[in-house]
Amino acid sequence: MLARFRYRLEPTVVQRSMLARTFGCVRVVFNDALRCRDKAYRAGETLSSTEVQRRTITEAKTCDARVWLAEVASVALVQSVRDAHRAYQNWFDSIAKCRVGRKVGHPRFKSRKDSRQSFRLTRNGFVLRPNGRLYVAKVGDVKVRWSRELPSPPSSVTIIREPDGHYYASFVVDVQPSPLPPIDREAGVDVGLARLATIATTDGQRLDVANPRHLARKLRKLRRLEREKVRRVKGGANRDKTRRKVALAHSKVVRARRDFHHKQALMLVRDNQAVYVENLNVAGMVKNRRLARAISDAGWAQFVRLLEEKAERYGRTVHRVSRWLPSSKTCSVCGRVKRDMLLKDRSWRCPCCGAAHDRDHNAARNILAAGQTERRNACRAGVSPSSGEAVGEEAGSTPITA
Ligand SMILES: [Zn+2]
Repeated sequence: MLARFRYRLEPTVVQRSMLARTFGCVRVVFNDALRCRDKAYRAGETLSSTEVQRRTITEAKTCDARVWLAEVASVALVQSVRDAHRAYQNWFDSIAKCRVGRKVGHPRFKSRKDSRQSFRLTRNGFVLRPNGRLYVAKVGDVKVRWSRELPSPPSSVTIIREPDGHYYASFVVDVQPSPLPPIDREAGVDVGLARLATIATTDGQRLDVANPRHLARKLRKLRRLEREKVRRVKGGANRDKTRRKVALAHSKVVRARRDFHHKQALMLVRDNQAVYVENLNVAGMVKNRRLARAISDAGWAQFVRLLEEKAERYGRTVHRVSRWLPSSKTCSVCGRVKRDMLLKDRSWRCPCCGAAHDRDHNAARNILAAGQTERRNACRAGVSPSSGEAVGEEAGSTPITA
């Protein structure tokens, strides 16, 4: 499986200006490639990738307006044309309804003012030096903070400048899955705002994971900085300084949240053979403007994504339970569905069997039960991609129709 490993870079002043030039050229080529395709689309022609690449890189280098493209690594430019192609293809696929997920619009043109800049290099554009430096084509040997070891030689690297002005190298490496010894415990997880996760396990335990509200805690400081920013003269050096402070505060929030999610996800995956979560429509939920910030701050989508990544790596299963399960309203003891329940009702008593429920823990128990049933049914139907052992059995009994 492929994984990303990210390290902080410490480029020198000279290297920084060379990196800035590369970011710029990559951006220009990306935009040129989009324009080239737009023009062809309007004229009704179809262009191959190689043709777009020839027009926006090879030919462009010979004309005066783009002659500086020759000064940066051409590997990066080629990757940029590829990205543009991918973005265009996603848009077409989205229109043709042959793409899963959210609708994708026309690719956005990149701007010099975008706060995050990046370019990607494949194998022939970078070298890991024996002295621990990273050679970046046409930039030179850049110092890297090796916070942990790379498990295997990387196939590509993305050089990023974040809005707070920090530089990073993000390597793509192939990591071998390292399955943990199997254990006899499964967990249902209800994600929420009061607590990030309420967990019910098959051995009858209840675990709570607090929601640290990383953004909410920094909000006062951020508001003060934003006010400071608008007081500064547009385009002035002081405004840029404050902009950088805002970006730094935001990036601290993002990093603290990600770190917390990594730790909690690892704990869940390590201690349970299967983890069941609700298949949430987060994009739809943040449309609720009163809760949008709190929901984004909790970062459910990232948490679930990390759960799935870690499960794959450690040989565990994460299963998403149907979005339409009335997990909060169903009594986990007798199965009765309580119709009149408000979001503010944190605990309730079942009118049928009299069981007292904490809203979230009850939901977690229902998710656990529903997940186990769904998975069993899927195994029986032989369509489950997540349960390796069952798929093997089913494969033998499936009639071959070819
Ligand atoms: Zn009941």
